[in-house]
Amino acid sequence: MRQRHKPWADDFLQENSQLIVPNAMEHKGKWQQLFNNDHPIHVEVGTGKGQYIVGMAKQHPEINFIGIEIVKSIIVTAAQKALDAEVDNLLLLNVDAADLRDIFAENEIATIYLNFSDPWPKNRHEKRRLTYHTFLEQYKEILDPSGKVIFKTDNRGLFEYSLVSFNAFGMNLEEVNLDLHAIADPLNIMTEYEEKFSAKGQVIYRSRASF
Ligand code: SAM
Repeated sequence: MRQRHKPWADDFLQENSQLIVPNAMEHKGKWQQLFNNDHPIHVEVGTGKGQYIVGMAKQHPEINFIGIEIVKSIIVTAAQKALDAEVDNLLLLNVDAADLRDIFAENEIATIYLNFSDPWPKNRHEKRRLTYHTFLEQYKEILDPSGKVIFKTDNRGLFEYSLVSFNAFGMNLEEVNLDLHAIADPLNIMTEYEEKFSAKGQVIYRSRASF
């Protein structure tokens, strides 16, 4: 994703620490306390500019959402959307998904969304794919036993790789959709990438899997 240099991003993060939570590891096992309720927690890994997680938070006030984004200048855009939407069931973390098990306790999360994750097509970068087995190990640990991993992408190669990776890990594939937009679904919240790629006529894939 292209990033514009935003020197004011640090100030913005500090001024909005009720939304973009600093020191995420301090809240391990205690995330529901920050939301002040016992609703289930859904996490989007690689939130980008936030259209999906903000849309989901508006659509599902009965769920707590946490968006994780590694790039500071991008999470600022997601945070601005969340502030504009005035949602109180969404938090954002400027962290690396490689640290998930330091941020969340075992069974703390109900659903993980992977939306248009970077494909890292070169074999030597396989370990960076968010559906590589080291990430799946973390998802398994932090998800409750009935938890789901829901994955959307336009990238056929990454989709096929991920289905094989889920299967090799012993996950149960509950949905494999090879053309998500073939049937209009008013409940499907589109991500920024999903809008961009589907406007170009690209097929959108979706899978749902559990451990
Ligand atoms: N999900 C958004 C969408 O569909 O429009 C953004 C997709 S973009 C291709 C992938 C996003 O994941 C980028 O914003 C990138 O910075 C973020 N990302 C990649 N690796 C990450 C990691 N290890 N931890 C957190 N975020 C990550």
